[in-house]
Amino acid sequence: MERPLTRNIHPDRPPLNLKEYEMTGGYAAVRKVCGGGMTPAALQKLVQDSNLKGRGGAGFNTGIKWSLIPMGDQAPHPKYLIANADEMEPGTFKDRLLLEGNPHQLIEGMILAAYAIQADVAYVFLRWAYHKAADLIRKSIQEAYDAGYLGKDILGSDFHLDMHLHTGVGRYMCGEETALLNALEGKRATPRAKPPFPQISGLFGKPTIVNNVETLCCVPHIVNNGAEWFKGLSYSDDGGTKLYGVSGKVKRPGAWELPMGVTMRELIEEHAGGMKNGVQLKGVLPGGASTDFLTTQHLDIKMDYKSVAAAGSRLGTGTMIVMDSETCPVGFVHNLQHFFAQESCGWCTPCREGLPWVEKILLSLEKGDGTPEDLELLNMHAQFLGPGNTFCALAPGAMEPLQSALKYFRDDFEKHIEHKKCPYD
Ligand code: NAD
Repeated sequence: MERPLTRNIHPDRPPLNLKEYEMTGGYAAVRKVCGGGMTPAALQKLVQDSNLKGRGGAGFNTGIKWSLIPMGDQAPHPKYLIANADEMEPGTFKDRLLLEGNPHQLIEGMILAAYAIQADVAYVFLRWAYHKAADLIRKSIQEAYDAGYLGKDILGSDFHLDMHLHTGVGRYMCGEETALLNALEGKRATPRAKPPFPQISGLFGKPTIVNNVETLCCVPHIVNNGAEWFKGLSYSDDGGTKLYGVSGKVKRPGAWELPMGVTMRELIEEHAGGMKNGVQLKGVLPGGASTDFLTTQHLDIKMDYKSVAAAGSRLGTGTMIVMDSETCPVGFVHNLQHFFAQESCGWCTPCREGLPWVEKILLSLEKGDGTPEDLELLNMHAQFLGPGNTFCALAPGAMEPLQSALKYFRDDFEKHIEHKKCPYD
């Protein structure tokens, strides 16, 4: 089984420096592209043909995203390419593996993406808490400058690119691409209205592409091996491999690169070693905290965008959180809503006011003070804070585990009301 993204990542060894990375075939794709082997339009088409979809959570087709940026002599400059490395989705730790394990792979992917859109400046927007990754990326960017992969006239071509590292301040909101743009401009990290999408008006009002770390790391491999090879890595229509993860009361929590479309059962039972002794699987958030619960009846679904959506949830980041039979679903969802309420940027009223209200109702239920009307209120909030009613995806994402918990674990909510206490205490 091929594992292009992680084959050179070994937990017991430091990441490859530039020379070692080159010896494993690193920067060959940049040499090919900048050496005249591919036009920006051809590179955009190649990535579109590979069916690479955004690995940050939304799954938007990467080649299509790139194709929407203005090109040619009339295009406004500077244009920007941003690696979204502000990984803060609860339960999600896949980009950290790539950032700490092989920083040059990301830098190479960024140079290629920047070439495809003819960007002038690239930023890595990094989660504040990823200190080790910050040191490695800073050092690797300098190595890439020294070797002529960054800066003026890259490898003798007329393509120029500067690259900078920017660390966030530890706010979940900064991972939303337009809030990220505001943060990078030194403003309060609130989302912007879309459209215009960043491709047209992004950083400082200029054309900008924001791509997730894992997405960008796929690009050198697509350039080296082709679109058909990339599609062939997958068990489904979505191209490539995927970094999947499992956390919760499983025997071996972790992250693994596997063909896109492995089943949820394989992930939990084989790679994560199954549930810990004494507990059973009760529910799964398949792609981070802002996705709908699935249950044991869904274990055989393929973990790809279409199949998870057909089951009523989203692939999201592909890093799942497992809830076990000894954990109270009400307390579990309350914990998530506490996080989302705290991380709301406060820009739009439904999110700012609604999330703390939801958190309060769940706490009251958990303490045994809840009433049947509280369940109606929670349902109302789940609708009211859903898609289309808020400025960005934060509150609708927060409602996904709530609405699906009310659907699959309603008994647990009702028992809290009936017995006036948490049945799991
Ligand atoms: P989105 O669907 O609005 O956009 C996804 C990407 O596609 C964006 O880059 C956007 O610019 C582009 N896009 C979408 N529609 C477009 C159009 N019509 N024209 C041009 N471009 C278009 O989703 P989002 O709000 O950016 O992201 C939400 C996702 O983020 C959720 O699925 C969630 O799972 C995930 N998420 C991830 C993390 C993390 O740490 N990785 C954290 C929070 C949320």
